[in-house]
Amino acid sequence: MKKNERAGHRAKKSLGQNFLQDDNICGKIVDAIFPEADDHIIEIGPGQGALTRYLAETPCRLTVIEKDDGLADRLEAEYPGLEILRRDALEFPWATLDGPCKIIGNLPYNIGSKLIWDIVSSVRGLQRAVFMVQHEVAMRLTAKSGNKTYGGLTAWVRNFAETKYLFKVPPTVFRPRPKVDSAVVAFVPLSANRRPEDPERLSLLIKTLFQQRRKQVSTILRKQWTPEVAAWFEENAVDTRIRPENLTPEQFRSLSQRL
Ligand code: SAM
Repeated sequence: MKKNERAGHRAKKSLGQNFLQDDNICGKIVDAIFPEADDHIIEIGPGQGALTRYLAETPCRLTVIEKDDGLADRLEAEYPGLEILRRDALEFPWATLDGPCKIIGNLPYNIGSKLIWDIVSSVRGLQRAVFMVQHEVAMRLTAKSGNKTYGGLTAWVRNFAETKYLFKVPPTVFRPRPKVDSAVVAFVPLSANRRPEDPERLSLLIKTLFQQRRKQVSTILRKQWTPEVAAWFEENAVDTRIRPENLTPEQFRSLSQRL
């Protein structure tokens, strides 16, 4: 059997296939979603079933989303009756998901940030999420404002969920081994009154400011500098010369409402 090939499956780099081999870590990730009897848990990218095996032992309803047909075939054979959606999670209509759910996954590294951006902001019934991502992305998701790793993803996600860095995972527990460390992050959605009223506007502000993150906020917003915007800085005692990374997620939300 060739390197990166297990039980006849050759890992596809294009699909970020790094399969977890450590039972203890798999168990810890599944425990972190706090599975309870009436839960509907959705797993993204079940792959060879490292997490699925543990999820299938819980009393929860389980749905998995897998883009690789070959892997989906094997899961179907191993878990008859498992709800398998053979689709691209990036194109999944997250906003149309009905009812409460929890979402879990050891995410493909190349699409982790984009998926998390979409999921936290679109899944209305989201109760909790637990994702393994690149360690560097985990640092961004959990950074405090003013920190070097604080960026657009941080400001956006934290307007929808609180994030908690759970634990680091070394490359040695995967086959094939990735080049970088991974980490597991938990997401707890914010109550409706703490979420942005106009997510489009917030997204535009975050993208505009972080595209020029080294400049002062007043310079970047020169063309939108209305009296309402100026008043926001005064009312909130925020120096107009600060850089985007010094605005908290909450300040991004409240400033976006003035633009
Ligand atoms: N959960 C398994 C584990 O922990 O060993 C596999 C994790 S592997 C990092 C990522 C998985 O996501 C692979 O099974 C891959 O085929 C799947 N995948 C990659 N891109 C996907 C996409 N756009 N939509 C759905 N699944 C995808």
